[in-house]
Amino acid sequence: VAVHERFSRQRTRDTAPEVALRRELHRRGLRYRLQVAILPDRRRRTDIVFGPSRVAVDIRGCWWHGCVEHRPPPKMNADWWTAKRNRNRDRDKETVQALERAGWYVIVVWEHDDVAHAADRVEQVVQLRRRNPSG
Ligand SMILES: [Zn+2]
Repeated sequence: VAVHERFSRQRTRDTAPEVALRRELHRRGLRYRLQVAILPDRRRRTDIVFGPSRVAVDIRGCWWHGCVEHRPPPKMNADWWTAKRNRNRDRDKETVQALERAGWYVIVVWEHDDVAHAADRVEQVVQLRRRNPSG
């Protein structure tokens, strides 16, 4: 019971990978807003948002979002975990599609991604879109 309760309190903000990426982007002079409700469903917040260039950065923890590289489900409550992660993945996909339909460029960053490399991707896209917001 305790395990279930402990893991069901899902942290969705200020996770370690998110803080590391934010710090690196800030160091590069990029300015952004955090946990923005872009979509009509206000529960679907976007982690890092560059409003003028319409770039949305979605940071995913390997565990909760079931990344392909670090996916093995725990042995206890395996069915529950598989279902939970499948729901998260479906929801992630829907959220990205909704943002793209609304004209946003979505960058997905996984917890296992290298921070400097992820920051490079974000910086490049933000600079391109600043010059050409529809591109
Ligand atoms: Zn991973």
